[in-house]
This record gives sequence, C-alpha cells and structure tokens, in this order.
Amino acid sequence: MFENLTERLSRTLKNVSGRGRLTDDNIKDTLREVRMALLEADVALPVVREFVKRVKERAVGTEVSKSLTPGQEFIKIVQAELELVMGEENEGLDLSCQPPAVILMAGLQGAGKTTSVGKLGKLLKERDSKKVLVVSADVYRPAAIKQLETLAGDIGIDFFPSNVEQKPVEIAKAALEHGKLKFYDVVIVDTAGRLHVDEEMMDEIKDVHQTLNPVETLFVVDAMTGQDAANTAKAFNDALPLTGVILTKVDGDARGGAALSVRHITGKPIKFLGVGEKTDALEPFHPNRVASRILGMGDVLSLIEDLERNVDKKEAEKLAKKFKDKKGFDLEDFRSQLQQMKNMGGMMGMLDKLPGMSQLPSDVKDKVDDKIFVQMEAIINSMTKAERARPELIKGSRKKRIAAGSGTQVQDVNRLLKQFTQMQKMMKKMQKGGMKNMMRQMKGMMPGGGMFSGR
Ligand code: GDP
Ligand code: MG
Repeated sequence: MFENLTERLSRTLKNVSGRGRLTDDNIKDTLREVRMALLEADVALPVVREFVKRVKERAVGTEVSKSLTPGQEFIKIVQAELELVMGEENEGLDLSCQPPAVILMAGLQGAGKTTSVGKLGKLLKERDSKKVLVVSADVYRPAAIKQLETLAGDIGIDFFPSNVEQKPVEIAKAALEHGKLKFYDVVIVDTAGRLHVDEEMMDEIKDVHQTLNPVETLFVVDAMTGQDAANTAKAFNDALPLTGVILTKVDGDARGGAALSVRHITGKPIKFLGVGEKTDALEPFHPNRVASRILGMGDVLSLIEDLERNVDKKEAEKLAKKFKDKKGFDLEDFRSQLQQMKNMGGMMGMLDKLPGMSQLPSDVKDKVDDKIFVQMEAIINSMTKAERARPELIKGSRKKRIAAGSGTQVQDVNRLLKQFTQMQKMMKKMQKGGMKNMMRQMKGMMPGGGMFSGR
C-alpha cells in the first residue's frame, strides 16, 4: 500500500543537506519534490498546499539535534505533519447510546459497502463481543440482499431478511424494531450504491437516516479513486451528516491520495481501512502508523499487534502453564523473550514507533540497538543450566566467568541481572493474562525506568 508515494518520498527526503539547522535554502528543493510526490499521489491540491506550507514553517529555523542528520530531522517534521493531516489520533466507532446502536453505510456502487458491513460485523462480534444484526436496504438488486445474507452466514452474525418489494425505509424500521426486541447491541444497515447528484436516491437515504437515527453514518469509498474519494465524501456529507469514512481497497492503492485528502477536505475522520477481500481485512485507521508506512519506516505497532494476536500463542501457552505449575520466571524464559524481541525486526525501528520514545534523550536511544539483545543473549548463553534456573547463584566469581565467556564486563552481567529481576517482578505481578498482557506491560516499561535505562 502507498508504495509509489513511499518510494518517491524516501528518495527525496534523504537529500536534505547542510548541518546545524534547517534553512530555506537546504529544504527548498526537497520541499518542491515533496509537493510533486504528493500531487502524483493524487492528494487534493488544497491539502498539498497547506501541507507544504506547514512543513516549511515548521522546518525553517529548526535546530537539527546532534544525533540526527538534517534529512532525518526533516523526515520527523514531515511525519508529524502527515499525521496531522490525517487526523492524529485513531477515531473508533462511538457506539455509546441506548442499544441497539445503528450503523448506516452509504457510498457509491461497488465501493465495498456490503463487504465492509460483513467485516465490521465480524470485528464488533469478535473484538468487542457485540451481538450484531445486519440488514440490507439495497432493493435494486436481489443479488445484493443475497450477498449480505451469505456473508453474514459465513461470519456467523445474524441477518435480518428483506426483499426487493419493500421500501428501504420500511426495511430500516422493521430491522430496528427487531433489533430492539431481540436486544441486539448493534444493527448495521447496508444500502444501495448511489451518486450524490441523484436527488431521488439521496432523498431516499436521508429518509432512511431519519428513520434510524444512527449513531454512526459511515461513508464507504474506494481508495483507488484518489482525491475523488475525498470530494465525493464531501458531497455526501453535505446531504447526510457523516460520522466517518471507511476507505476500502487500500491494499491495491499505491498512491495514498485518498488517505491524505479525506480528513482535510471533509473534516471527517477515516475510521477504518479495507485492506483486502477477506472478512478480516479491516484495520482501524491510525494516522501515525499510516504516516510511518508512507515514509517507509514500517508499521511496527501493527506488527506488534499481529504478533500479539498470532505468533506468540505458543509461548503464551507455555508461560501460562508455567504459572499454573507455580514455577517462576527464570533466565531461560528471559532469553526466549529476548529472542522474540529480536525477531520483531530491528529494535531501533521499533523504538521510534513506541509511544513516548521520541522523548528519550538521544544518547539513550543510541545505546539501544540490536546489539544489546545479542549481548544479553550471549551473557545468558554463558551461564550454566543451574545458573539460568536459579539466578541467585550468580555471585562474584561466577559473574567474572560469565563475563569472560560472553566477552563482556562484569557490569554488563550485573545490568542483565538487574533487568532480569525487573522483568521477573513484572511477571509475578502479571496474572494469567498471558503474552498479550505482558507485551503491553513491556511497552509501558521501556520509555521510563525500564529495561534499557538501568545502566
Ligand atoms: P458495494 O457495491 O459497495 O456493496 O461493494 P461490495 O461490497 O459488493 O464490493 C465490491 C467489490 O470490491 C467486491 O468484489 C469486493 O470483494 C471488493 N472489495 C471490497 N472491499 C475491498 C478491499 O478492501 N480490498 C479489496 N481488494 N477488494 C475489496
Ligand atoms: Mg452492496
């Protein structure tokens, strides 16, 4: 996703030269390139203008901190502004109301509304344990109603039947009534595709909206339409009070113009990204993560979430079992933990994505590189099995032996043991929450007085 923009920008941003501070002179050419890159990515012109202006204002006169090159300093500014233009924070659904909370979907034909109803239903059911009902008010194609029925069946959420003889407003009323009667948490209403210039169709959805009084009215739009996505969203928003946007087919969008334009043009947040045809290909939209992706810095937080969800299940089970067996967390466990962190792909890349890490003094950051993991692992490898199981054995002469064996100093061994003790305490505090809980705590402890600050 967004490959073209990423490639253009990362080529460009490396070229900022000079030292000391960013000046008009050393960013002029790069700024022009950024502007071109955004226009090529089909970002709407007012957005490009505003963006470039803001970056310039912010950059000129900025001191380049010692540990960064001017190029890196500039990238930081570009990243911050990218986040800002997309809305800074993730905005999720606000379903707080007397249930059932109604979500109304609107958009052009083929935008991905029906697919998104399914994805959203699945997410709300699985992530939030909501009781979800879906219904189709698309009475123009019999196949459309059937499509949603099949989808709901696949996912395992309830489908409220409708047919092409009915009026959309009738369907909406009946579904809402049923939703109340059967205590559904959420009712998601699919609608037919329509053009904002089609007055009759727009009146129809306005009536449906009035009948349902939805807490969320989501505009579903294809990312590949670029800045048109933002413009149609705006046109819809003029007729229908939207609460957010679902940007679909982002998996096929190399440019990113829609993602960057929607917020600025409509004033409405993108709430989700559709990233594939499968029912789980829906991601909450996090401006900071998308900004990182655009700048080619990966998206480590999403990666960590993935790891939490998938990779670590086995380890988590092992740990959970250990807790049950009342065995403590020992250095063997600590080592496998380190290995996992190493596998997460580059500590440095990861650090900058972690909340709060940007405030860390750069001399600390410099010290935290992947070598630390290698070193920590080497130290543990130099211990005997007994020492790993019972770290309290490790005293003076043993420490010297371990340091010599791992090519480190006794103080490194001490540091590792201290870090281990901190980790062990944390593990004790942790209940049976498993790996997920622990990863969260690990994230929490890194910026402050955690693993890497006890030197
Ligand atoms: P609707 O007319 O707005 O209801 O659109 P549909 O939900 O029927 O989707 C139209 C087509 O787009 C289908 O072939 C979907 O599989 C596809 N589609 C929807 N969302 C995505 C997405 O996020 N990524 C990809 N690659 N395809 C999608
Ligand atoms: Mg549809």
